[in-house]
Amino acid sequence: MRQPLIAGNWKMNGTRSGAESLIEGVLNGAKGLVKTEVAVCPPFPFLAIGERLLGGSPVRLGAQNVCTEAGGAYTGEVSAAMLGEFGCHYVICGHSERREYYGETDEIVAKKLAIVIENGMRPILCVGETLEQREQGETEAVIARQIDAIIDQNGIASFASLEIAYEPVWAIGTGKTATPEQAQEVHNFIRRRIDGHDQAIGAKVRILYGGSMKPGNAGELLAQADIDGGLIGGASLAAEDFLAICQAG
Ligand code: PEP
Repeated sequence: MRQPLIAGNWKMNGTRSGAESLIEGVLNGAKGLVKTEVAVCPPFPFLAIGERLLGGSPVRLGAQNVCTEAGGAYTGEVSAAMLGEFGCHYVICGHSERREYYGETDEIVAKKLAIVIENGMRPILCVGETLEQREQGETEAVIARQIDAIIDQNGIASFASLEIAYEPVWAIGTGKTATPEQAQEVHNFIRRRIDGHDQAIGAKVRILYGGSMKPGNAGELLAQADIDGGLIGGASLAAEDFLAICQAG
């Protein structure tokens, strides 16, 4: 019922020519995929390349961040309207690297989600606990706080217009992956949290897993009942690996 989504988060990697060949590689390889939706999220300067190459294809384009404000004197920022104009369908919001290095709070993340939705795109809301929080037994409390902040600020209806990515911070870029059981437990917790407010939205919302997902572990993660796809960092930088994950979906 929920179509799997595999989205590549390139982070701040790549060159202009490299972006072109990576997008072309993904596009060619994704042609035969019917079951899985595929998206790539390159850095801002490469979005125009994505728009040109992916326009009219089933592979979606996404951005990695957005400004909370609609426009004006915000030097260095990029607005949701601009992303929409360059063909973005998805915008990653609240990635742990942004929360950690750029001070993004739950309140800021909620504002970003709202402006992305207002501009007709779909946010990919990232949530996840640190290693310390997991070891202290705080995983569910942290995830609940991150999800509830959005429900309080934007309303439960906003979850009909977004995707969620559960990304345990300790698994991002570390080579350590949550076991399928660990991931499923948190995904199910997230779905039940949303279900508690609106069962129809809870049943429909896609919850992606992110954190060192690669061709070798994607199959068993994606086989879990509440894992509806993946947000892929490192392994999205090589078309072959990324497409192998897409095939596992
Ligand atoms: C990410 O940063 O969204 C991510 C999942 O990274 P990686 O796959 O490299 O762990």
